[in-house]
Amino acid sequence: MTNAEVARTLERIATLLEIDGANPFRVRAYREGARVIEGHAESVSAMAAEPGALEALKGIGKDLAARIRDLTATGRTDMLDELRARIPDEVAAFTELQGLGPKRVKTLFEALGIRDRAALEAAARAGQLRGLPGFGEKVEQNVLKALATASAMTGRVLLAHAWPIAHAIAERVQAIRGVESVELAGSFRRRRETVGDLDLLVTGGDPEAVMQAFVSHPSVADVLGRGETKSSVRLDSGLQVDLRLVPGDSFGAALLYFTGSKAHNIELRRIAQEQGLSLNEYGLTRGERVVASRTEEQVYRALGLAWIPPELREGLGEIDLARAGTLPRLVELADVRADLHMHSTRSDGRDTLEAMAQAALDRGLETIAITEHSKALAMANGFDAARVRQSVGEIAALRARFPRLHILHGLEVDILGDGALDLDDDTLAVLDWVVVSIHSRFEMTPEAATARALAAVRNPFVNVFGHPRGRLIGGREGVPFDLEQVAEAAAANGVAMEINASPDRLDLSEVDARLARAKGCRFTIDTDAHATTHLENMKFGVFQARRAGLTREDVLNTLPHAKLMTAIERPARRASAGRTGAARTPAERAPAKRAPVKRTPPKRAR
Ligand SMILES: [Zn+2]
Ligand SMILES: [Zn+2]
Repeated sequence: MTNAEVARTLERIATLLEIDGANPFRVRAYREGARVIEGHAESVSAMAAEPGALEALKGIGKDLAARIRDLTATGRTDMLDELRARIPDEVAAFTELQGLGPKRVKTLFEALGIRDRAALEAAARAGQLRGLPGFGEKVEQNVLKALATASAMTGRVLLAHAWPIAHAIAERVQAIRGVESVELAGSFRRRRETVGDLDLLVTGGDPEAVMQAFVSHPSVADVLGRGETKSSVRLDSGLQVDLRLVPGDSFGAALLYFTGSKAHNIELRRIAQEQGLSLNEYGLTRGERVVASRTEEQVYRALGLAWIPPELREGLGEIDLARAGTLPRLVELADVRADLHMHSTRSDGRDTLEAMAQAALDRGLETIAITEHSKALAMANGFDAARVRQSVGEIAALRARFPRLHILHGLEVDILGDGALDLDDDTLAVLDWVVVSIHSRFEMTPEAATARALAAVRNPFVNVFGHPRGRLIGGREGVPFDLEQVAEAAAANGVAMEINASPDRLDLSEVDARLARAKGCRFTIDTDAHATTHLENMKFGVFQARRAGLTREDVLNTLPHAKLMTAIERPARRASAGRTGAARTPAERAPAKRAPVKRTPPKRAR
């Protein structure tokens, strides 16, 4: 199990304990343990083998260490099994609905005996929720809304959650003697935001040995079917995985077929038919003769098309581009040189400023922007104007410690309900990089939401609109502003749009990003890391950008540092620095001060 998987399991135990009415201290211990493990760079699987290593971690006691040892050794722990026997998985999943925390879910479960989603929806429609303690009419309405959003997610998991297990299974199969190729096809290969199941295609190797390795993976909960060429399993997480053995000489045709999408494949088959050919998972054929089948490139070429990156295979015009030879050269992870949105312990991050900088350097980044929250997010230790000025010295000290990393002094400033920013222009002028984001009041009329977003992107100190919609995949729809107008204004004002790489945000979506690009916007792809481990999420943002057809030229943080600095220059900031002149200097000369000691751990802003 990876650290992320262990952390998710501990978090799940915490939620179940809370629904079960356990001692709040115990619940908190599991939740805190999850945070510690998720943010810990060293593999806990390796640490579990070393006596005392887990217990040496802050926040990990004996009880937790024992659970972690169970999990890393066997993939399960009795405690979770017992809790799951009492509380149905579907009930636990209610806590992911916007507005329903574990306390309310406990009430639903105990007072109304609600055990599944259908019962929850029926009860909400019948007006049975409003009278419950801690509920009310508004909560009831929000539950119905959240159920509608979540229904799109049913049976699907976030790409990032499927990522580690998909690769672990593929690697296990790849290690079998004689296996030539292993590919993960389907929506996983197209890098959709969520995946419903995994499709593994394998060539070579002894079929018996391949199937045995597959069905005996420790994460397999049920073997749904086992055959000569195809086996299916269900994992502990509920995800179904199908493995198909295909002959090497039809691997390309099979990969094309099982990657999809359906719409893409239908168009390809039509093109084949027009040429008197036929296309299926075994190959492209003319009568009995195989025209192409070994590689995808060969099949596309035989159809008169350039190879199409899987992220574009959605039947949205990519085939015309491939025929004309005008497919975009999509941005790649290796193009990314900067990460311009991240937090540290100074606001609601888990790792220190120094740890974040070191991790960025270790990942080969040239430039980072440290972007703590602003004061509207008091829970997240948001910065006020004085704290921003105080931090000039802190950033200067950080730069001195990391001379090989370019560090922008940034901030993630809240966009208030009326579109005003949480900090005044004089304060914004102190900063190198201003991200503006919405963290509250997501429910507005489209008109009010549009006015709010327009006001924010028109501020001359702003650089980028962070996670613009504020959506959470499967959890929150986001702000209903008219993106066409907002993107136009952003482009005209030199404000970039962010593709936030947090796995449950991926915001802008690929549909929104396509529109914003058509309106002339440029983009940043940022991790919004709240721990060093989150810097790994950059790839998910890049996938989303690729699905939107973005090239390196569309993405600011692919620029070398000097060019990036020119590209993000805001005339207002330069004028302000000239006008006030001294405003920056005394602060810069001020000695680095330590952040005030926090009494309570901050809550992460979503
Ligand atoms: Zn944010
Ligand atoms: Zn953020």
